[in-house]
Amino acid sequence: MTIQEQLSQLPSVDECLKSSYGEKWLDSFPRKTVLRAIREVIDAKRKEILSGAVPDVSLYSLSHDIEAAIRKHSAYKLRPLINATGVVIHTNLGRSILSDKAIDHVITTARNYSNLEYEINTGKRGKRYSNIKDIIRELTGAEDAVIVNNNAAAVLICLDTFAKGKEVIVSRGELVEIGGSFRIPEVMKASGAILREVGTTNKAHLADYENALCGNTALLLKVHQSNYRVIGFTEEVPIEKLMKIGKEYKIPVIADLGSGCMIDLQKYGVHGEPTVQEVVKTGADIVTFSGDKLLGGPQAGIIIGKEKFIQKIEKNPLLRAMRIDKMTLASLEATFMQYLDEEKAIKEIPTLRMLTESADVIKRRAKKILSSLKKDISNQAKLEVTPDESQAGGGSLPEINFPTFVVSIKPSNISVNELEKRLRFGNTPIIARIKGDALLIDARTVQDREIKMLVNSVIAALS
Ligand SMILES: *Cc1c(COP(=O)(O)O)cnc(C)c1O
Repeated sequence: MTIQEQLSQLPSVDECLKSSYGEKWLDSFPRKTVLRAIREVIDAKRKEILSGAVPDVSLYSLSHDIEAAIRKHSAYKLRPLINATGVVIHTNLGRSILSDKAIDHVITTARNYSNLEYEINTGKRGKRYSNIKDIIRELTGAEDAVIVNNNAAAVLICLDTFAKGKEVIVSRGELVEIGGSFRIPEVMKASGAILREVGTTNKAHLADYENALCGNTALLLKVHQSNYRVIGFTEEVPIEKLMKIGKEYKIPVIADLGSGCMIDLQKYGVHGEPTVQEVVKTGADIVTFSGDKLLGGPQAGIIIGKEKFIQKIEKNPLLRAMRIDKMTLASLEATFMQYLDEEKAIKEIPTLRMLTESADVIKRRAKKILSSLKKDISNQAKLEVTPDESQAGGGSLPEINFPTFVVSIKPSNISVNELEKRLRFGNTPIIARIKGDALLIDARTVQDREIKMLVNSVIAALS
């Protein structure tokens, strides 16, 4: 058959649409989606023919491809997956997953009208942030609070409010870059503030800050070294000391905490993260932190501190451009409320639960996965539970390796890379890591409700 003859046998879009298949598709899917799928498949076949192949172009054969394309285009692009990496606050995988209470409050708020900006007592217009101020004051000891879309925005609006065209003193050891292009010097530039670096990479002294003060100094900024640590011959100036010069020269001190840990995790073997409450106690004028890192809530930037400063931020027109929506407000409120009972918070806020879970509990979960897998695929892979280490992620607690247990899968008939890929391509993708010739499923970040699906997906991928 010549290429021309083959092309002429390709069904037209109309033929596909009017076939019995077409009628069936139109019953269940939007016409736009069906048309797009038909066009794509016909196009692909045409290209195959032009490149010299002789594909089956019967309507029957095309219908399979078209149906697959329809399904692909009808599915959400943003979809759930199973995090088997062991990285609890995985920025690429959505950072924190929300607690059930936060989810319930989001659903109720999304489904109904609410007093988002309405004062029920007076029947007058209210303020968006007033509903959440009380609980934040209660938990952190701060005088006042306001919320923006993320911590990057929190830092930006603080700089814009207090330091436009003026100098901000920061230690060289704290000029951090957080993944996704948040770099202190660049945020500074974007805000119109002037960065005044002091000290060296490893050391900054109080005198360095004092010497840098001038008539144009507007702020002292302390940035928490979230995702790295400088170790060895080091010195940094604690906020308490910065507060002394801040008070003496009447210059506000801001602490960008990054993670925003609300519970002293040392009890749970997690060291090295100051709590929000501790930092507030130092007297820092403004403290900012993320909503979706160690707090375990939605993406948000929480700004707390002295009332007069927060009020100034609330008057900044930028706040309107950075304001959070009602669903964020709802999940944040619910998450904060859970901190009223620390023990419950640790159990019920997924990020905290996963970070503080004992190796024993994780081992039990790993063994459960292992035994379900063994029933079905002991021939297709070498399976074992082994100790390993997981990480907090999200630029939190970089130096801590959390002891964990992983299910190690060494496939017999396919390569470990092929297995990794097949798991990623599944209906519910599983994201795992490869170590040597084994695929590791870290049981720390696998939720109990996901185990059955995970096991089925691994079995399907191996057979
Ligand atoms: C993570 C982090 C940020 C950015 O916070 P987002 O909520 O991701 O915008 C800023 N500063 C520090 C120190 C951080 O750790």
